[in-house]
Amino acid sequence: MAALLYIKVNEKDNVAIAVNDIKAGTVLMQGIVAGQDIPQAHKVALNDIPAGKEIIRYGVIIGYAINDIKIGDWINETMLDLPVPPPVDEMSYATNLVKDLPEPPVRTWEGYANPNGGYAGTRNILGINTTVQCATSVVNVAVERMKRELLPKYPNVDDIVPINHAYGCGVAINAPESKIPIRTLRNVAKHPNFGGELMVVGLGCEKFTVEMLLDEADRTSDNVVILQDLKGFAAMIDELMKMADKKLAKLNERRRVNLSLSDLMIGMQCGGSDAFSGITANPAAGYASDMLVHGGATVLFSEVTEVRDSVHLIGERCIDEVVCKKLADEMKWYDRYLENGEVDRSANPTPGNKKGGLSNIVEKAMGSIAKSGTSPIVEVLSPAEQPSKKGLIFAATPASDIVCGPCQLASGIGLQVFMTGRGTPYGLALAPVIKVCSRNDMKDMWSDLIDVNAGLIASGDATIPEVGTELFNRIIDVASGRMKSQAEKYRLHNDFCLFNPALIT
Ligand code: CA
Repeated sequence: MAALLYIKVNEKDNVAIAVNDIKAGTVLMQGIVAGQDIPQAHKVALNDIPAGKEIIRYGVIIGYAINDIKIGDWINETMLDLPVPPPVDEMSYATNLVKDLPEPPVRTWEGYANPNGGYAGTRNILGINTTVQCATSVVNVAVERMKRELLPKYPNVDDIVPINHAYGCGVAINAPESKIPIRTLRNVAKHPNFGGELMVVGLGCEKFTVEMLLDEADRTSDNVVILQDLKGFAAMIDELMKMADKKLAKLNERRRVNLSLSDLMIGMQCGGSDAFSGITANPAAGYASDMLVHGGATVLFSEVTEVRDSVHLIGERCIDEVVCKKLADEMKWYDRYLENGEVDRSANPTPGNKKGGLSNIVEKAMGSIAKSGTSPIVEVLSPAEQPSKKGLIFAATPASDIVCGPCQLASGIGLQVFMTGRGTPYGLALAPVIKVCSRNDMKDMWSDLIDVNAGLIASGDATIPEVGTELFNRIIDVASGRMKSQAEKYRLHNDFCLFNPALIT
């Protein structure tokens, strides 16, 4: 078989994606000759497209031609105008509820069951929460010593992780939107990987108090250290070491047990996307997601600005009016948030996305939602909220990788699957991250950073179900602690970047 030159996704499309770099003059098919050099992953016109006419990919209008485009021409981001975003009021719901989902190869995994009956842990970690950035310097010194002197005594504990963040003081704590960073910190303190052990360090004069972080029953001297109550640095370190020693001893008793998939919650996101992401990595992730949901697991997908332009397709998959209404509310909240900052959705994509052939946010959104598979959407969450239902859930978060991660962790994910086209060394300290790449070239470039290569779909060497099943199996192996993901092996951890849409004072 001759090597594939281009990929057309939908019957209606008048553009296709170059599988590799195409030289000007190459015959793509009868009657279509490349008008210019076309970079890999970029679009080529399959028809003449006069100025003002639709450019169609994934069967939807991704933009309108600014000038006349000739058949065989390279189409880049400077050549199309954005269509208006679809309205969110009166979206239809429950009109596309797919029941026929792929059967998962297994329905159990091995995790750390939690005492309160919530989702199970995938790792066994001592999390040290802080109420304010001011406490971070002391906490970091203490954690270094804990890792050196205490952790080796407790072989069943994987790690000690400080939750350092920029919130806590110098913030408008009563601003309406401060509920988002506060909710994030409250929920992350109870992350399933922490096994119900709470350890909190405050300074003593901050706006975000221990009372705001913890429920009353949890605010005990066994769980909380206030630095301003202690006499000097040595006493602080001593107090933190003693508390950590007790918590580690308890965590060391935790053992993995065989659990049903309904005890597992994972998150999906993508970063550094290219035009292949929507036809290889994201559909493979969607297939794995469908298998997980069919087996009873909970899967979150997020990134509001990457859903906004295809929101009507998400609305159709909401199980009822309540879920669809919350979806609309989250979209409207984000529209206003962007408007207040005097930007619009054209602020996403990035220069790298564009270099990877993604012309605008509509094209990016169509590829992005493929990671949600086809399952019905049972719930919509505000940023950092915890789910009340099991199944596929849209968890509203920014698309920014480093902000989406902490939001999903606060919602309680035990693992994140991360699709990339351009490559990023992204990782989370609290939960393993599995990387899926969209192109074979990406896998060659970063073979030791990528866990699963979905590029084989574009080269015709594997199908979406094959790569989707491989990813499902990898999720189960990594969640069960039988394997580490590449980012986890190298301890690649991004900072805990809170989403704070409220004001700094
Ligand atoms: Ca992202």
